[in-house]
Amino acid sequence: MVEEYHSSGKASVSGVLLLALVSIVGGAAIGLVVFAISNLIYLLILFPIAIAVVGVVAMTAAVVKGKVRNPLIAMLFGLVMGLSIYGAFHIANYHHFSNLLFQALSTSIPPADLPNVDRMATVSSLLERLTGSEGFLGYFRLTAREGISITSLYASESSGTVVSGIPVYLYWLAEAVIIIGSTTFAGRAASLAPFCEKCSARYGVAKHYGSVPVHQEASFLQLLRQGHLQEASALVANEDSTPPPNLEVYVRACRCATSPQVLLDLKKTTRGRENRVQRRELVKFLIPEQETPLFDRRTEAAQ
Ligand SMILES: [Zn+2]
Repeated sequence: MVEEYHSSGKASVSGVLLLALVSIVGGAAIGLVVFAISNLIYLLILFPIAIAVVGVVAMTAAVVKGKVRNPLIAMLFGLVMGLSIYGAFHIANYHHFSNLLFQALSTSIPPADLPNVDRMATVSSLLERLTGSEGFLGYFRLTAREGISITSLYASESSGTVVSGIPVYLYWLAEAVIIIGSTTFAGRAASLAPFCEKCSARYGVAKHYGSVPVHQEASFLQLLRQGHLQEASALVANEDSTPPPNLEVYVRACRCATSPQVLLDLKKTTRGRENRVQRRELVKFLIPEQETPLFDRRTEAAQ
């Protein structure tokens, strides 16, 4: 029987633990590295995009390595990853700022009293006097009020145009959305990659096998569902003879050494604006082992 492929949504305990480790510890480590670099230079927009790319790579690797097929769990840890990166970055900045501020304040404190002074409390109360909010929030308010430089946001040397107030909050929001949105989306995307439950591995790269003309699409799908694979495969024409709009047939082989499973990945193409080809995932079918040679003429097993 030809089965429609659906993700199992499974996630093992070890897979979830790996995601937790990478998203919390790995995320914080990325945030701290960014903080270290940001003391030298920090470019608006470019840096958050670069951070997002690093986060996406780490998140994708963790989902693949942990074999997590559950999109909700993967998204949740993607969110944790983004929060962890961005949170660690801002917390490190706050501590750095607090230390600098305390050093400036300490000149007015008698040296004998210094060991007894609570650094964070001193800084916090000063921030409250300056901004009305203590601690972390006061730091944010002060930074927004003082403004950030367009060229180097967190570097001590400020140059170029300075923006302050509401635009600073909007900019931080944009940064958070870029970083957290990317890692969350990456977790989901990685968890949805077709996965062979038999050999417990992801299917290989999709190879374009051919295309079905749009007027034969319905009969092709019906033949597949009824298990008439011989007739169905005969409808798949060469890509060049069947330009879009059509039904593209991609083939993915799994890594089972003895009898690889073959997955038919069907994408519907249409002509959009300016005649551009648009693709949409339609449906995926698992081909029974004995029938896989029918869809094997141009594929090799995944490495
Ligand atoms: Zn397999």
